[in-house]
Amino acid sequence: MLLAEIISVGTELLLGEIVDSNAAFLARELAERGVTLHRKTVLGDNLGRVTDAITLALSRADLVILGGGLGPTDDDLTREAIAAALGETPTEDPQQMAHLRGLYESRGRAMPEVNRKQAWLIPSAEALANPVGTAPGWFVRSQGKLIVALPGPPFEMHRMWREQVLPRLPLPARAFHAVTLHTQGIGESNVAELLGALTRQANPSVATYARKTGVDVRVAASAPTAQEAEALALPVLEGVRGLLARWIWGEDSDTLASVLTQALGTRTLGVIEAGSGGTVCAALADAPGFLDAAVTVDHARLITLGLTPITLNAHGVVSEQAARELAAGAREYLGAAVGLAVVTATAGELAGQTYIALDTDGLQKTAHINWPGDAPQVRERAAMAALALALR
Ligand code: ATP
Ligand code: MG
Repeated sequence: MLLAEIISVGTELLLGEIVDSNAAFLARELAERGVTLHRKTVLGDNLGRVTDAITLALSRADLVILGGGLGPTDDDLTREAIAAALGETPTEDPQQMAHLRGLYESRGRAMPEVNRKQAWLIPSAEALANPVGTAPGWFVRSQGKLIVALPGPPFEMHRMWREQVLPRLPLPARAFHAVTLHTQGIGESNVAELLGALTRQANPSVATYARKTGVDVRVAASAPTAQEAEALALPVLEGVRGLLARWIWGEDSDTLASVLTQALGTRTLGVIEAGSGGTVCAALADAPGFLDAAVTVDHARLITLGLTPITLNAHGVVSEQAARELAAGAREYLGAAVGLAVVTATAGELAGQTYIALDTDGLQKTAHINWPGDAPQVRERAAMAALALALR
């Protein structure tokens, strides 16, 4: 088992001025490759503390990954800290130096003297080429342990991780199989309740994530080969599919719009939105069958789209009856085969109330959601629920 720790270096990270997205990226990368991560540490630009952290991490992990602090300035101390932790002395590497000077020359600039330390190496370090910046990384092999140092800018870090580090790591021969199921219309705690003990096992693991499009459930397994990982995941995946069948609308890269497009086939879709501010249209923008839409809260205009004055007076726009009439209106007045109407209130007494209706050949389905929140949240929920209804 390869055991890893991550150390993120930078005072701006420690003080919360920037979020440590590099550690999150690395953690996901490691998990997917069967590397066990036990700790993430965040430290300021302090030589003593970074050195101590490296020493401690080496005492309990096989792989220590450092991010940041490879720049040319005095507060970039990662190289110094690794050297100190290993008791080695950095020297300027002629090859790295030539490369660095070449980089500056190609940009028509003289290399500042402070950059010289970016050409440093210690005896146990190999330089990792940086195709998008000046700071090379370090890949250090010492006493059976590995230390990787990568620059802080995420764009540089991600690329060097994939191109330079991964090929050098003694990764366990493990393959990974994961499927994400997308649900709508059920809350995360209800999903967790239904899944019960399934969410507490490790391999396959079952995890829930609340997303804007509903709750996602990810089933993941790792095994020596891809086929074994898939076979391991399958029974659990089938179990989850069975338990959540009523709410599942798609898998993996499916989007509500793509699944809806498939469900529509050659039929066209017309949408009337009152109060949801075009969020349904925005979600459907790329769906080929999406024919036409009206986005309005104007009563007179809604009446021209099928809302009857009787309903307006008796129930108001944010009502099931209004949604039904407008869904039929979307077919009649927008000329679509399938009509979808969303009426929602984002403010006032009814804030958070949404009625949705779908009209296919006179057959109507409706849904009601009551989700208080701020206006953008209500609109987003309304849109997702509308697309989900169109799929049922
Ligand atoms: P540089 O040569 O750019 O100075 P460096 O290796 O010294 O690179 P830092 O100075 O620590 O890296 O960070 C440079 C920038 O990279 C930070 O200002 C920040 O924008 C980004 N960065 C650093 N560490 C992280 C991190 N852990 N997560 C997200 N962004 C980071
Ligand atoms: Mg720096």
